[in-house]
Amino acid sequence: MLQQTRTEAVKGYFRRFIEELPTISALAACPPDRLMKLWEGLGYYSRVRCLQKAAGQLCTASGASEPKLPASAAELRRLPGFGPYTAGAVASIAFGECVPAVDGNALRIYSRLCADGSDIAQECTKKAFTAAYQAILSDENRQAHCVPGIFNQALMDLGACICLPKNPKCAECPLAPFCKAYAAGTQDNYPVKGKAKARKAEARSVLLLRCGEYTAIRKRPPGGMLASLWEFPNAPGAWEYCAEAMGLPPGDILSAAPAGQHTHIFTHREWVMQAWEIKLCRCTALPGLLWVTDKELESYAIPSAFAWCKRSGGD
Ligand code: SF4
Repeated sequence: MLQQTRTEAVKGYFRRFIEELPTISALAACPPDRLMKLWEGLGYYSRVRCLQKAAGQLCTASGASEPKLPASAAELRRLPGFGPYTAGAVASIAFGECVPAVDGNALRIYSRLCADGSDIAQECTKKAFTAAYQAILSDENRQAHCVPGIFNQALMDLGACICLPKNPKCAECPLAPFCKAYAAGTQDNYPVKGKAKARKAEARSVLLLRCGEYTAIRKRPPGGMLASLWEFPNAPGAWEYCAEAMGLPPGDILSAAPAGQHTHIFTHREWVMQAWEIKLCRCTALPGLLWVTDKELESYAIPSAFAWCKRSGGD
């Protein structure tokens, strides 16, 4: 949950999630729609799909009634959703394995400590910095000074509280005596990071199809962005094109009125959305369209890309 998401935002979700799904087998058995509902609003839904896949994989592989999480980073990496950082963090913190957990914080700290101008967006830089952390950890570990989980959490805390991306608090930093960038007064030059690709902006219309107390929703396809989540009908371009594309008979439309705007930012693209409240003379039956009351709507997982429409429209 903490990947790309602030701790404050995660706390409530984590509590609800762990209360309802306290074990690996419970997670594996959770119906997908319920799982999406528990994650609704947290974003990056592929995380929860991977979590459930991993739970399913563990259940299948284990003969026991309740499977256990593997204890090494190498084994964890075989599970969906476990990249090097997550595997390193879990293996070191939960199981004491001597492995680093290298995320953006750790990369920033290392580049400043060594005044290393390598581009941290490059895979080869990540590999080299990870190897350097592994060497430090192994060396410290050999001398029995180091608890790997504490080392990695110290780096996380240092990156979150002291060695900040902007205006690092070097005067408070325990690593200041060893920091080459601090010594040279060049902290702000590090880390070097190549420019990310510009996000593609796309104008979309969102149709809030209403008929009395009912609103129409539909399920997104099982693959791609926001896979299998529920949405209000939408498409690039003007609302009339969207209505035509979904086969809405023009004779069913009583009125159309703007119902709010919102820009939703994804990793590689952004949707500039205009909502339209379209009043219909009947709950038009169209393939994939589901008519629900506002109360029923609450039980469907609507991602935040569309959740704002629930508030902006409305009879
Ligand atoms: S001295 Fe400053 S730049 Fe160096 S690690 Fe500490 S906070 Fe970061």
